[in-house]
Amino acid sequence: MSSELISKFQEIGLSEKKAKDIAKNEKVSASFVEVLDEGSVSKADEKKLNLLYNLAVDSKNNGVAPEQRKIVTRAIVDNRLKTNLQVTEALRYVADKGDSATEDEMNAASGVGVELSRDDVKSEVLKYIESKKEEVLAKRYAGVPSLLSETKKLPSLKWAAPGDFKPVIDGIALELFGPKDERDVVKKEKKKKEPKASAKKEEKAAEPERSMFTEGFLGELHKPGENPQAFPELMKEHLEFTKGKVFTRFPPEPNGFLHIGHSKAIMVNFGYAKHFNGNCYLRFDDTNPEAEEEVYFNSIKNMVSWLGFEPWKITHSSDYFDELYELAEKLIKVDKAYVCHCTPEEVKAQRGMKPDGTLGGERFPSPYRSRSVKENLTEFRKMRDGHYKPGDAVLRMKQDIYSPNPQMWDLVAYRVLNAPHHRTGDKWRIYPTYDFTHCLVDSFENISHSLCTTEFRLSRESYEWLCDALHVYRPAQREYGRLNITGTILSKRKIAKLVNEGYVRGWDDPRLYTLEAIKRRGVPPGAILTFINTLGVTTSTTNIQVIRLESAVRSYLDNTTPRLMLLSEPLLCEVVNVDEGFGEEVEVSYKPGAEDKFGSRKVKFTKKFYIDRSDYRDETDKEYFRLAPGQPVGLMKVPYNVSVHEVIRDEAGNVTKLLVNYESGIKKKPKTYIQWVGENNVRKIKEIRMYNQLFKSENPSAHPDGFLKDINDNSEEIIRNSIIEAAGFEEILKKSPLNIGIEGSEFNINEAAGPHTVRFQALRIGYFCMDKDSSEDSVVLNRIVTLKEDAAKA
Ligand code: ATP
Ligand code: MG
Repeated sequence: MSSELISKFQEIGLSEKKAKDIAKNEKVSASFVEVLDEGSVSKADEKKLNLLYNLAVDSKNNGVAPEQRKIVTRAIVDNRLKTNLQVTEALRYVADKGDSATEDEMNAASGVGVELSRDDVKSEVLKYIESKKEEVLAKRYAGVPSLLSETKKLPSLKWAAPGDFKPVIDGIALELFGPKDERDVVKKEKKKKEPKASAKKEEKAAEPERSMFTEGFLGELHKPGENPQAFPELMKEHLEFTKGKVFTRFPPEPNGFLHIGHSKAIMVNFGYAKHFNGNCYLRFDDTNPEAEEEVYFNSIKNMVSWLGFEPWKITHSSDYFDELYELAEKLIKVDKAYVCHCTPEEVKAQRGMKPDGTLGGERFPSPYRSRSVKENLTEFRKMRDGHYKPGDAVLRMKQDIYSPNPQMWDLVAYRVLNAPHHRTGDKWRIYPTYDFTHCLVDSFENISHSLCTTEFRLSRESYEWLCDALHVYRPAQREYGRLNITGTILSKRKIAKLVNEGYVRGWDDPRLYTLEAIKRRGVPPGAILTFINTLGVTTSTTNIQVIRLESAVRSYLDNTTPRLMLLSEPLLCEVVNVDEGFGEEVEVSYKPGAEDKFGSRKVKFTKKFYIDRSDYRDETDKEYFRLAPGQPVGLMKVPYNVSVHEVIRDEAGNVTKLLVNYESGIKKKPKTYIQWVGENNVRKIKEIRMYNQLFKSENPSAHPDGFLKDINDNSEEIIRNSIIEAAGFEEILKKSPLNIGIEGSEFNINEAAGPHTVRFQALRIGYFCMDKDSSEDSVVLNRIVTLKEDAAKA
C-alpha cells in the first residue's frame, strides 16, 4: 500500500481511514486517481469526493472510456450533478452514447437544473395519494413505508432530494390520519400454539383481563414513597400520613358538565387508587369564582358515583385559601415572589413576545422584580385589602425568566378579582392561580401520584419549583394522554350553543357525549370502564370514533341485559280455529342460555295477539322466512306454527288485521320464529327514540361554515304506537337495576336505580332503556345502540 497515495487522498480532503481504505484496492484507487486528474481536483468536500469516488468505481465496472467519463467528472466538479442517482444516470447516458455523447444531452438525462423543492415533493405526493385515497385511509400509518418507496419511484419526483420524502410523508400522514392511536399499534403476532380443540375453550377462560393499572403508563409509575424530594425528611411525614398507600385526586373545575374524556381522568385517578387499595379525593378546583355554579358541583359528584367510585374525601381548593395565603407571604419572605404592576402587554414583552405577536424575542425581567421583601409584603397586603383593582397588581413568582421553559417565566401566583366566591363569600378579593394552588394543595393532601394530562408537561418544573421553594412535601406530577372522541364535540361553548338554540334536548341529550347524556341514554357505567381499560393509558392522545365506543357498549349490553318482546308497529292477528277463551301458557327465557342469571317469564298465547307489521308480507321470496300467505311461521316458544287464513284490509288496501290458523298438533319446523305479544299482555309505549349520530362528519368543528352545519337532520327518529309485553316489562322495571356484570371483571358496578337502569334488548331492533321523560303511565324509550354496527350506519 503506497503511503504516497494515502497522503495524496488525505490532502484532497478524505479522512485517514477512508484514504487507507481506498488505497488498499489497487484497481479502484488507480481509477480514482484518474478521475481526480480529469477534474483537476486538489481539494473538495466530503460529498463531492464521495460522488467522484462512486464515479471511479462505476466507470471501472462498466468499462466506460475516460473520454466519455470526463464529461461526467466535470459535471460533478462544477456542481451540476449533486446526487449519486444523477451520477449513475449521467454515466449510463455517456456509456450508451459513446463518442456521440454531448454535454447538453447528459444534463437532460441526469436532471441537471431540475430543482424540486419540498413543497413540490409534497404536491406530487398528495396527487399520488389522491389516486388511491381509500386504500391509504384504510391502512393509515401501516401504509406509510410503502408510500415512501412508491412515491420515490414516481417519474415526476425522480430528481427530488431523497431526504425530502420522509418528512413530507410524515407530515401528510399526521394531517390525514391525526395523531397515532390504538388503531396504529402494530400487534405482535403471538406464536400460535396448536391447542387441541377441547383445550381451546379452557385456555380462553383462563386468560386474565388486561389491566390499565398494571400495564403502560400507570404500570410504570413509582411506588408510594419513591418519588424524589429536595428535602428527604419531608417524605417521612408524608408516609406517616399515607401509611405507604396510593393517594390520588380527581380535580375538576366546577365550571361545566363532565364529558366522556373526563371518565378517563376519573378512571385513572379513582381507579388507580382503588386498584392498589389507596384513596382518591374528589377535589373541586374552585379558584375561578366567576365560572362556578352549584349545578356543576352536584353533577360532578353524581357522575363520579355513577361510575362506581366513592371519594375518600370531597375537598375544594378554596378550603385551603388561608393556608395558601400564608404560603404566599412565606414565598415573599424568602424573596421568591414580588408584586408586579405591569400591564399584560408589558408582561408579554418581558416574556419575549415581539411586536408582531410572535414569541422568541429577547426576554428581560419585570422592573418590579427587584423590590425589597418588605415592600412586597406591604404591596401584597394592599392587594388583599382591596387597595388595587383587578389587573393593577399581581403577585408573581420569582422563577427564571431566561429558562427555556415558558412555565418558569415568573408565573402569576395571585390576582385581584372583585368577585364573591361560591364558598368563601366576600372574604377574599385576591385568588390564587392554578399554578400556585394545584401543587400546594396536592402537597397538603399528601398526594402520592398527581396524575394529569400531557398539556401540563411543562408545568411540572414550576410545580416542583414551588413545593421546593416553600419547603413542603413535593408530590410527583405525571402526565398521561387525553381521550378524545371523534365525530362529536365536547367543547362546553359548543354544546351550550346546541342546547340554547334547541338542537338538542339539553346537556343530557342522549346524542351528546357528556356523562349526563351517556347515562341518560342508558349506557351502563361498567361498559365505559371496561372500554377505557381496553384502550389502556399511554402518554399519547387516544382518538376514538364514536362507533368504536358504541361497539364496546353493544358487546357489554349483550352480556348484561335481558330480552323483551317489543313490537314497534303492532299488527293484530286473530286465530280463527280456536275458541274465545283459548289460552296456552308458554315459558320464555329472558336470555336463552343464561336463565340462571336472567330467569324467565310465562306468557299466554291467546285467540288475539300482535306481531310486528314488518314480520308479515303479501308475497314471499327466497330470502324472506317470516309470515306470508302460504308460508307459516313460528311464534317464539309457541308449540305450533300459525299460517295466514285471510288478510283484512282497509279501503286503501293497507293490512289492518290478519286471520290465522293455529296449526295445533302438526309438528313442522318453521323457517323462523317471530316475536308476538298476547292481547292481554299489552303495554303501550308512548315514544321510542331512535338515535343516530348527531353529526355527519368525523370532525364537525372542521366544517367550513361552522359545526352547526354538520348536524345530521335525522339524528333522532321517534316511533309512536309501539307495544311491549306488559308483564315482562313490569318485572324488569321492578327488579331494576339488575346490576348484572361481567364475570370476573373488576369493573362491575352496583348502580342506583333510575329510569336509565331499566335496560333490555328488544329482539331485532336494539338495546333500550327507559328515558327520564317517562311517567307512571307513559313510557318513553331510548335506543342505546343498535344490535349490529351496520344498522347504525344505515
Ligand atoms: P378541558 O381542558 O377539556 O376544558 P376541563 O377544564 O373541562 O377540560 P377539568 O375540570 O380541568 O376539565 O378536568 C378535570 C381533570 O380531567 C383534569 O385533570 C383534566 O386533565 C382531565 N381531563 C379533561 N379532559 C380530559 C380528556 N379529554 N381526557 C382525559 N382527561 C381529561
Ligand atoms: Mg381544565
